[in-house]
Amino acid sequence: QAKQQGRSQYQFYSPEVNAQLQERLALENELHGAVERNEMVVYYQPLIDLHSRQITAMEALVRWQHPTRGLVSPAKFIPIAEANGSIVPIGEWVLRTACAQTRAWQLAGLPPIRISVNLSARQFEQPNLVEVVSQILEETGLTASYLELEVTESFLMGDVQRSVNTLEQLRELGILLALDDFGTGYSSLNYLKRFPVTMLKIDRSFVQDVTSNPDSAAVTDAIIALSKSLRLNITAEGIETQEQLDYLQKRGCEEGQGFYFSRPVPADAIAQMLKESSQQMEAIAI
Ligand code: C2E
Ligand code: MG
Ligand code: MG
Ligand code: MG
Repeated sequence: QAKQQGRSQYQFYSPEVNAQLQERLALENELHGAVERNEMVVYYQPLIDLHSRQITAMEALVRWQHPTRGLVSPAKFIPIAEANGSIVPIGEWVLRTACAQTRAWQLAGLPPIRISVNLSARQFEQPNLVEVVSQILEETGLTASYLELEVTESFLMGDVQRSVNTLEQLRELGILLALDDFGTGYSSLNYLKRFPVTMLKIDRSFVQDVTSNPDSAAVTDAIIALSKSLRLNITAEGIETQEQLDYLQKRGCEEGQGFYFSRPVPADAIAQMLKESSQQMEAIAI
């Protein structure tokens, strides 16, 4: 192959790897200015109180409505955005959009829910993060206690003291803090005790086979027990089946999200869900 292309041309990678690199480079370029070009969209996935079955929160999950590639999933572009820094403006846009949307739902008379927004490592390192968050709350009129930021152990572990300081400042604003993908990191319980978080989110990888794999069940049970003894709220992500739901409920997990309840959907569909949820509540009250 390389021979056919002539001696002056070097081919360092196989054609497949080369195509992947080309695609990555293209995405990297196209990510710049994607927010300004209005190409980012926020989808929302409900979180459900496993006991009352009411919607308690939404997680904001970004998608990239690419002009030619269609809807690009965050798994594909977040790592690239993280590497080239464009995650900072994207993340800020997601936060502003999600807070404004949540406030709009409240003003429309829908039952108040909290909004959960993922933070990236790069965003977390920004020296003005706390100001940005507080500015967005003020701008959108959302009360701080309705906002929850999701962080992961892996990026808190870099400079632990600095992470603790940032988390404390965020808590002082009155917002909530969740440890996302919990159980997949490697942080010691000693650190967990120092991070002023309010919620643990059991990673989907454990929930996925909680009813078939005793190890996953053991980890899930341990995380739930830990949340109780540390007095943290607890959510399970990735609930897909009735069996998983039954298991988690039986073990005292308070809240969950997953395709069993709903996939992430655009804002319009959420308004409809909240309306139905509030009608159910009224019916119970009557
Ligand atoms: P995450 O924060 O752990 O979000 C949960 C992911 O699990 C979402 O994938 C959601 O669609 C998916 N999920 C929820 N329930 C189920 C289920 O029952 N089954 C399966 N198979 N999947 C389920 P999504 O939306 O593709 O996002 C992937 C990741 O991308 C997120 O994981 C998060 O780490 C990152 N991400 C998404 N939006 C943002 C954002 O605005 N900022 C940052 N920094 N990261 C984001
Ligand atoms: Mg998350
Ligand atoms: Mg998660
Ligand atoms: Mg996860």
